[in-house]
Amino acid sequence: RPRRLIAGNWKMNGTGEALREIEAMAAAAGDLACDLVLCPPSTLVERAARLVRGTSLRIGAQDCHAQPAGAFTGDISAEMLVEAGASHVIVGHSERRMAYAEASALVAAKTRAAYRAGLVAIICVGETEAERDAGRALGVVAEQLAGSLPDDATAQNTAIAYEPVWAIGTGRVPAEEQIAEIHAAMRQGLLARFSTAGAEMRLLYGGSVKAGNAASIFAVPHVDGALVGGASLKAEDFLGIARAA
Ligand code: 13P
Repeated sequence: RPRRLIAGNWKMNGTGEALREIEAMAAAAGDLACDLVLCPPSTLVERAARLVRGTSLRIGAQDCHAQPAGAFTGDISAEMLVEAGASHVIVGHSERRMAYAEASALVAAKTRAAYRAGLVAIICVGETEAERDAGRALGVVAEQLAGSLPDDATAQNTAIAYEPVWAIGTGRVPAEEQIAEIHAAMRQGLLARFSTAGAEMRLLYGGSVKAGNAASIFAVPHVDGALVGGASLKAEDFLGIARAA
């Protein structure tokens, strides 16, 4: 199975003083059996990237624009993120799909921008609670996956994060069988579309991952890592998850 990937998403949290947490993560990253990526807010990307230079901790951003430059007030391009020192970018997070009505076609365009700039895309998918209750979880995830991944996705330039919306920030982790069902279906879909690349693409689980539940989540077939929100803010918590990987 592929080397696991543990990615942290700080969302709109963290000012300069939080850099000491990134420093502590960087100091421990080399001893881990997994790949470690931390995605702070854009304002910290350049300083964080400078801080982790020479360590195995990588820095990512939380979103990018599809265009390389232009009249897009408030947006940041993938090329700008690369210049700031990022190697990864999260695209299609449910918070952006919902708050900014980002559809899968736009997520695919942002992913192509990430590839163009040389960033690894962490593409998020996941159903809402209403969709799961309606029996539509598998269909929604399959549709988001199909619409958000460009044809030139590979195991090197892409990781997928399955984040059920109802599990984000709620402490409600799906049953292992529920994660297993979605991850197996995602693997099947990726295999059918991308063959070998689809077999090797890393599939992360996200939603209320903590050090205490990480090992049982990582034991689920086709779970190749985690995308961690709240528990990535403190080095001790985040490293606890990474050590279970
Ligand atoms: P929590 O780990 O805080 O539930 O957030 C998950 C998430 O949205 C990561 O992108």
